[in-house]
Amino acid sequence: MCLKYYEALIRDGGFKVGTVEEASCLSYLFDRRVEVGEEVKLEELYPTPNHHRVYLNSLDLLRGGWPTPLLKISERPKEAYAKLEWYNPFSGSVKDRTVYYLLKSVEGDRLVEVSSGNVAIALAALGNVMGKRVKIYIPTAGKYVTPLLDFLGAEWQVLDVSMTVEALEHLEKDIREGAVHPNQFGNDLNFIAHLRTAAEIDWQLSAVGRRPDYIVAGIGTSGHASALGFYFGVRYGAKLIAVQPKDWIPGIRRVESGMKWIKYVNAEILDISLSEALEGVREFARRHGLLIGPSAGAVYAAFSKIEYQGTLVLVFPDSLFKYTALLEQLR
Ligand code: PLP
Repeated sequence: MCLKYYEALIRDGGFKVGTVEEASCLSYLFDRRVEVGEEVKLEELYPTPNHHRVYLNSLDLLRGGWPTPLLKISERPKEAYAKLEWYNPFSGSVKDRTVYYLLKSVEGDRLVEVSSGNVAIALAALGNVMGKRVKIYIPTAGKYVTPLLDFLGAEWQVLDVSMTVEALEHLEKDIREGAVHPNQFGNDLNFIAHLRTAAEIDWQLSAVGRRPDYIVAGIGTSGHASALGFYFGVRYGAKLIAVQPKDWIPGIRRVESGMKWIKYVNAEILDISLSEALEGVREFARRHGLLIGPSAGAVYAAFSKIEYQGTLVLVFPDSLFKYTALLEQLR
């Protein structure tokens, strides 16, 4: 992993590329070929928004649509900003970012992956745009995405398992037959994609003269929470509050089920139950009029519980709209 180079870049704001290994690590992060001898700047990760919002194709809509909004949701002494990731166009979630980075680098045009929701939609959608056919294995709880996958033309199979990671063994046959597995759980590009998300938030907060003291985010693969925790930890000494489900909340899981990147940060882990998460959704909707997804509700519930003061960034991975059938069952 390229962590020590990323750490130097984030800490110093720039990096002089001395070796082939460093050039390769920075090429992944900057999403372009970085040469030995080049001096790269952190600012290159900042977004270049398209003010007129006219886009030449749907990939341009993703990249040119960044930054996604950062919404101030509370005042000092506990000043908080929510990153609204459902503004990403393909899956309406934070996972467009991961999948874009994964698809840019995987070889082959047949892909197979395991997902309980947003990654499935993002892969099917971005696969159509980037010339990849995808097959998705889905744990039982993710069944509600299958009609969307049909519209997108992706192949899928629902498995009788409760967690995404348990479905991994089903992929082996497809891999033997030549399909490529992007592997959102193990591919460092998931983490790397969100170093760019962190730089985007850094750029947004600096516009209002703030820097975060705390990041509050849910953990599934741990990609986005760990990357934000790492970036803001290195840059400003901020702390990550990682939110895991006490029981079950779609999109996130418990840290002991195994996740790759959370060990890169010194995180405080907080348990939130499904009923607390849904109460968070309700409270946020009543207060701000926005329907946030269940894992965002968990993040908001965690924010309401903690007593830390300062500037906080909350990541809201998606909105409530794709969960309506699921909510019917929970009534
Ligand atoms: N929230 C939702 C709705 C998700 O779909 C996911 C991941 O799929 C997460 C949170 C967790 O994100 P990560 O995999 O980056 O930890």
